[in-house]
Amino acid sequence: MTDALEPRLTSWRPLLPWQSAAAAAALATRARWPHALLITGRRGIGKRSLARYFAQALLCEEPRADGSACGHCPSCGYVAAGAHPDLRLIEPVEYDEDGGPKPVDAIVVERIRELIEFAQLTAHRQRAKVALIAPAEAMNGAAANALLKTLEEPPPGTYLLLVTDQSARLPATIVSRCRLLPAPEPDVDSAIAWLAGEGVERAQLLLAQAGGAPLLALALADAAMQRERDALLDALSRPERLSPVAFGARLDAYPRDERKTRLADAVYWLLAWTADLAAVASGGAPRFNPDRHEALARLGARVARVALFRYYRALLQQRALLGHPLVPRLVAEALLFEYRAAFAQKDG
Ligand SMILES: [Zn+2]
Repeated sequence: MTDALEPRLTSWRPLLPWQSAAAAAALATRARWPHALLITGRRGIGKRSLARYFAQALLCEEPRADGSACGHCPSCGYVAAGAHPDLRLIEPVEYDEDGGPKPVDAIVVERIRELIEFAQLTAHRQRAKVALIAPAEAMNGAAANALLKTLEEPPPGTYLLLVTDQSARLPATIVSRCRLLPAPEPDVDSAIAWLAGEGVERAQLLLAQAGGAPLLALALADAAMQRERDALLDALSRPERLSPVAFGARLDAYPRDERKTRLADAVYWLLAWTADLAAVASGGAPRFNPDRHEALARLGARVARVALFRYYRALLQQRALLGHPLVPRLVAEALLFEYRAAFAQKDG
């Protein structure tokens, strides 16, 4: 759900530069690899890449002495091709009649039942079976319940890799049955170098917009995404002229199945903007939108701070609700009316 900015239909990336040390440390204890590993960390730092790297290592037929995958055995080839028979990827995705993937709100119980069946089969390549659940918090209640038994008594040779950026939304019964691995945070230099290598211009600004998360920065580099950001931030810069209804109409101009994603994007920009406004109002510097420092300073001087903090909380609540049925236009309008009110109170 709130991963709308991140490509769900994973184009699996190789291990990222800032993950090497943590990956090596984890594989050094490979002999005691847990049946269920929960990789946690904020969005956009490469948790899935790390999970994929582990999956390949566990499935490799001739692993190196340090526990990493050899890269040239048949299993490594299948993983690279995204077609290993002993590897399952469980995502909130459905397939239409043409086999085309379509994002959906939740990982439903049927997906977990398929996973349980898979876990009971004999491994095709005789090494291991690996299932990757990403994002794990997308499992609905029934799906999480169905998974519990497999977590308690995993069939031998079966490894579960769960990935989440919202572990608080996972049932405690799931979390307590996994070994936790916090994904390594990238440092600014390697993040910028990596983004430049991906052909991203203005890497520094995009990394700021993404709060330091490189894969999120890459997603935000999309031209359409930046157009939406500009339109929204221009509107937020002039609260007295801001029209929530016009913004709602802008959202409604998108095809129906895109509106929720666009709303999730808007909530992301609103959160970043509001955090910057609070920072600037307290004499700090904007973390996410350094290119908008002037407008933020002007607004920070006149915003009602209590209302601003209340607004930030409202945005967080709204973000948690994005996976539920809602009318994107109405949500966007309500959020912008409330934003405008944070200024009206001060003036009036
Ligand atoms: Zn191999």
